[in-house]
Amino acid sequence: MYAHTTAHADAQVRHARTDDGWTDANTEVVCRSLGCSPDGGTTVAGGAGYGTAFGGGERIWMDDVNCEGSEGDITQCSFSGWGRHNCHQDESVGVCCQGCPEGVGCPPAAHAELQLADCRPDGCGRVEINHDNTWGTLCGMC
Ligand code: CA
Ligand code: CA
Repeated sequence: MYAHTTAHADAQVRHARTDDGWTDANTEVVCRSLGCSPDGGTTVAGGAGYGTAFGGGERIWMDDVNCEGSEGDITQCSFSGWGRHNCHQDESVGVCCQGCPEGVGCPPAAHAELQLADCRPDGCGRVEINHDNTWGTLCGMC
């Protein structure tokens, strides 16, 4: 029963990292908003194995984000209100998107209102939104 393949074990770890407070529908909307495919995206909860890769930034803009999945923009989803949160910065959410416009996992960095900060070659980055001309993160874990 311990004969998991590396890929299988990896999938289990990734699943475990997926936060209870951040839904697949949220990730779908983020990836769509970035111009990537709404399908095939995965969630990486901050502070749960990826360490500071998804812990950066100073401001936390959105908490308790709850999308239906069909929204064209993350700000159309229910959330707690700008800057209203009960999170720590290391709980910021990261996502991995597929099918982004430049042929790799990372969307163009210069998106006006949403970005995957510190996006890695595998297409995973910290979700940041620009509000009041300030970039901030979204809570994934609380
Ligand atoms: Ca949680
Ligand atoms: Ca919260």
